Amino acid sequence: MDDSIYTSYPPQLTPEQKEYLVGEVKNWALHHGLAVKPPPTFIPKESDPVGVLSSNAPVTLFPSPFPRSGYESAVAVQTTYNKLYAAISSDEAWLGKIIEELVEADDFIANLWKIHVRVKEEGYVQPLSLGLFRSDYMVHTPQGSTAPSLKQVEFNTISSSFGGLSSLVSAMHTDFLSFPPENPITYPAHPILKDNVPPDNSAVATLTGGLAAAHEAYGPSKSSPALPLCILFIVQDGERNLFDQFELSTRLTKFHEIPVFRVTTKDVLKSTSIPSTNPSRPLIYTPLHAPSVKFEATTIYLRGFYGPGDYPDETGWDARTHLERSAAIKCPSVLSQLSGCKKVQQILAEATGPDHLAHLLSGTDPKLVSQVRETFAPQYDLSVSGRGRELALDPSTAATHVLKPQREGGGNNIYRESIPAFLRSIPEKDWKGYILMELIQPPTTAKNMMLRSDGQVLSGHVIGELGVFGTILWKDDGEVLHNDQGGWLMRTKGKDSDEGGVAAGFSSLDSILLV
Ligand code: ADP
Ligand code: MG
Repeated sequence: MDDSIYTSYPPQLTPEQKEYLVGEVKNWALHHGLAVKPPPTFIPKESDPVGVLSSNAPVTLFPSPFPRSGYESAVAVQTTYNKLYAAISSDEAWLGKIIEELVEADDFIANLWKIHVRVKEEGYVQPLSLGLFRSDYMVHTPQGSTAPSLKQVEFNTISSSFGGLSSLVSAMHTDFLSFPPENPITYPAHPILKDNVPPDNSAVATLTGGLAAAHEAYGPSKSSPALPLCILFIVQDGERNLFDQFELSTRLTKFHEIPVFRVTTKDVLKSTSIPSTNPSRPLIYTPLHAPSVKFEATTIYLRGFYGPGDYPDETGWDARTHLERSAAIKCPSVLSQLSGCKKVQQILAEATGPDHLAHLLSGTDPKLVSQVRETFAPQYDLSVSGRGRELALDPSTAATHVLKPQREGGGNNIYRESIPAFLRSIPEKDWKGYILMELIQPPTTAKNMMLRSDGQVLSGHVIGELGVFGTILWKDDGEVLHNDQGGWLMRTKGKDSDEGGVAAGFSSLDSILLV
């Protein structure tokens, strides 16, 4: 295809067209719940003390072109990735060896591991675990290469968010591309937009399908007398991304007919209990606003407890321990959360030494295993002197790398030239808490326009990151009961921004047109 159709994308807008399109996006977003609570930098608490205001989520005005082959290969490997991370979580010996190294350098990881050790001592009562995963990628186009490939940025095993809002962005762009049906006019004409719509985005059905499968697999109430069953969403206090979560809870209640309740991380110990006389340890939920009502939680879906900020004091850790020792199916369990450590991803990507993929995915079609392997970007260990330390400490090689701690949620990484000085500023014994990763080189010619939550419209060169959702339900002996993939997330950020999170304020939600 002639390259000029990409460089002329998105189509130029006249002032009238821009005003119209921004208005359409803003109205569509609020009308359909493609929304977030406004950041305090936009609406200070004093201006909205009761928290009644919401705003459009940061979104792109146009869908972004994405190579079909890259999209297809990301989708093709997802259920194998699901199996891989279920296998890691079930292989305590393999995972434990990695985590015990990290424990010495990272208190947060150490505290999570302590919970696992404690509950294991007492005995886990729930053999099933649920994963709602998202594997994130960028298109890699190193200079001089002709064929772009797809490289994994990271694999998320906890609070993998934006399935809900991402489906809405796809629906919004699709509406704009299709109305009126014969000759759509919301966007000015452009060859990329002609007769094209984003691929089906079934993230909400896939993620809720996983939660419903866990709910079903839990079986009957373990309480006597039996209690009605429910799913609990464990959410952050003051969450701004709650409409994304409502897309899932609404489908669970309306389509699957499963009651769902939201419990903030700080209310877990107040509103849930485990009867000491019941060795099955059911997790009983009593709404704070309805103390006579009791439900038994089959499944707890964590949209909090993924970072140190969710554990402001000891009661945070007590709450997480309490959930972990209950009979509810955890999404994720502590082990499954730990399996998503950046360190695990670095070890999987090691080109020399033991073939971890072959061990963890034994019995899987070797073609699928090598497709997973092809998504790895080079990553290095910093625990000992060697290649990783050399690359990280030399400014000229650090310039093509990112340094990652064992954290989730965006805003934690150290980039390029800042790496050597950062490492020298912390004790050498703590270096093993980080991994070094080669920077993926996405195409730099793409452009788009974004409407931020505060109403700013930005335009310019952008970089896209594609996430693919998957869900898996497995037993601690490795048996898989449900393994599915479906739905995706496109996040687009300004070309010069290193970080990528939407919630962290760096990127906008986008959709894709396959080209
Ligand atoms: P987090 O768990 O905080 O989301 P990520 O590993 O996803 O951590 O890194 C945050 C962001 O940094 C990503 O969304 C991406 O934009 C950027 N990033 C991370 N790793 C790479 C990489 N190897 N190459 C290019 N950009 C990267
Ligand atoms: Mg990320």
